[in-house]
Amino acid sequence: MMRQYELLERITRYNPAADEGLLNKAYVYAMQKHGTQLRANGDPFFSHPLEVAAILTDLRLDDATIAVALLHDTIEDTDATRGEIDALFGEDIGRLVEGLTKIKKLDLVSKKAAQAENLRKLLLAISADVRVLLVKLADRLHNMRTLAHMPPERRVPIAEETLEIYAPLAGRMGMQDMREELEELAFKVVNPQAHGTISRRLASISEKNRDLIREIEADLAARFAERGITARVLGRQKRAYAIFRKMERKAVSFEQLSDIFGFRVVVATVPDCYAALGVIHSTWPSVPGRFKDYISTPKQNDYRSIHTTVVGPQHQRVELQIRTEAMHRVAEYGIAAHALYKDGVGPLAGAANGGGNGKLSGFAAEARAYEWLRRTIEMLAEGDTPEEFLEHTKLELFQDQVFCFTPKGRLIALPRGATPLDFAYAVHTDIGNSTVGARVNGRPVPLTTELQNGDEVEIVRATGQVPQAAWEHVAITGKARSAIRRASRVAARKQYAGLGRQILERAFERVGLAFSEEQLKTSLHRLAQQDLEDTLAAVGRGEIPSANVLRAVHPEHREEVKNAPRRRLGLGRRNTGRTTARKAIPIRGLAQNVAIRYAPDGGAVPGDRIIGIMTPGEGVTIYPIQSPALKEFDEETERWIDVRWEVDLDSTQRFPARIALTAINEPGTLAQITQVIATADANISNLHIKRNEQDFSEIIIDVEVMNLKHLTQVIAGLRAQRVVSSAHRVNG
Ligand code: MN
Repeated sequence: MMRQYELLERITRYNPAADEGLLNKAYVYAMQKHGTQLRANGDPFFSHPLEVAAILTDLRLDDATIAVALLHDTIEDTDATRGEIDALFGEDIGRLVEGLTKIKKLDLVSKKAAQAENLRKLLLAISADVRVLLVKLADRLHNMRTLAHMPPERRVPIAEETLEIYAPLAGRMGMQDMREELEELAFKVVNPQAHGTISRRLASISEKNRDLIREIEADLAARFAERGITARVLGRQKRAYAIFRKMERKAVSFEQLSDIFGFRVVVATVPDCYAALGVIHSTWPSVPGRFKDYISTPKQNDYRSIHTTVVGPQHQRVELQIRTEAMHRVAEYGIAAHALYKDGVGPLAGAANGGGNGKLSGFAAEARAYEWLRRTIEMLAEGDTPEEFLEHTKLELFQDQVFCFTPKGRLIALPRGATPLDFAYAVHTDIGNSTVGARVNGRPVPLTTELQNGDEVEIVRATGQVPQAAWEHVAITGKARSAIRRASRVAARKQYAGLGRQILERAFERVGLAFSEEQLKTSLHRLAQQDLEDTLAAVGRGEIPSANVLRAVHPEHREEVKNAPRRRLGLGRRNTGRTTARKAIPIRGLAQNVAIRYAPDGGAVPGDRIIGIMTPGEGVTIYPIQSPALKEFDEETERWIDVRWEVDLDSTQRFPARIALTAINEPGTLAQITQVIATADANISNLHIKRNEQDFSEIIIDVEVMNLKHLTQVIAGLRAQRVVSSAHRVNG
């Protein structure tokens, strides 16, 4: 186990101004707290935080981060408290240690979806301070190095999580060394066979090509020297995991992977980079399409280098990365290197530049040194859109997906671009079918809203709601689309079948016969139909005339039946005669066979003073006289027809009307509203949330009522609800 003075030595080597008092205090405190605890391999537990601190000294991190590394498991695993750490080391360190404690508490579950949830929580936790993440990565690295001592069943989930979350995160932060080591360690556990095969193959290839590599190295060095370029040429063999990924991604065999050898050329200045590139390209032919200049256009994580691939001396492909020493440090240490070198201020920068001039005081210096890190983390955690993070982290697994949560915390994975409707159907088809609105992170949103990673989605439902056909274009998932199509088709068919049944009842009644579905069923073949419901719907849609059905069911029936009671009905062709009972056409003043519609934007109910507007070839539309829509017909007086209601008092016939209401957004509001309408014995034929503000929704409800009095009762009932702030009839 590393001694106290050894750790300090490592730190003072790069940071002579290190706060030895703080570091010693953290060392002693953590050692005492962990006391006699042992790790799985029998080592004293304290060896773990110590090694984590050591990893961070390799990254040349500051005192506070090293102290946090030493303390990182104390709150979770010992009787240490946040208060105690605050008192001894200051609130800043206390906060960081607590952040690590939080991350550690995340349950390790091997399911990919659950890991995405971990990722989200992790990000929330770290967005406060990137140092939490740096310590966490070092912690994970040490745990991966010592994974062999864990019980076997724990190893795979930990390794998977490392591959899927921590290694890409390290990569995103520019810490390529750490990324590669994490990947190799995890790969070995997750897929030991592939790891073994590729590693053995790599070893044999590099053995076989040892001379070749030396030849290239020597050749390059000589040519650079000739041109006066000082360069370090480092042969680099690809790691097994990188090769495995490439084989998977490109579906190529190991043999086809030609670019297994790589070299790094590290030079002094940027002009030297381009000079070196010139030397390389004039020595060996370059492979088209493989040249990338990340010096003029750095990667998101500030990685800079020139990449090129050439055809080497024995016709093998050789990858080269050309960079300066400073770029090399950034490439190796990533974010951590920036903490040291980038801003040129603060204790660390001073030390790195040769111990020079000085140390800004306290947190001010630290704040500036970490400014770049914070910016990056903000970008990581928030970005322009949250999923940008996933894009840039190159978490290929998650790139095409968004992860959202139910209010109870269940994770729902959806393809990118998914809407609350997709979410609703992903949870359950019944939920999708009864959706009327959605709330995302507590705020009402339109159903067309594109969901973002981490959104908590609450679906607002109403019984009796039917999916609208237009939703098919709002949803993007196959499941939602097909369910919407099915449900709206079923609903439409049901509606038409109901209408068809009514039409037939009347048509049969007119000629003195009783309509029976059973009879129709046995006569379907005469209509070239197979399904009763389909046939009824076809009648409802007007595709099959009722007379045809009549003839099919009663082939013996003759049209000139004399004794049929004559009814005045709006439907059918042959009816003439006087008005009688219920189901009669409810409008007086119209020709017998004219089709009647009610104002499409608000309907009309008995009790309204009404006007009929005739549309040749279509029929008459009934408007309440106060309807603003009538203005449209001002110039066409010939279309105006004077009509009156003709409805029996005891009629239960229904008429359409529209209610607009403003309601407070809270759970159960819609349920209350629909309940009131149902209790008043009115039918809801459509419910549409027109506008959804944070606190209020404007809801348009189409109802079917018996008359104006009935409608007035419904509206009064709605107004009596606490959640309803206003309710009025549209057009009324
Ligand atoms: Mn730990």
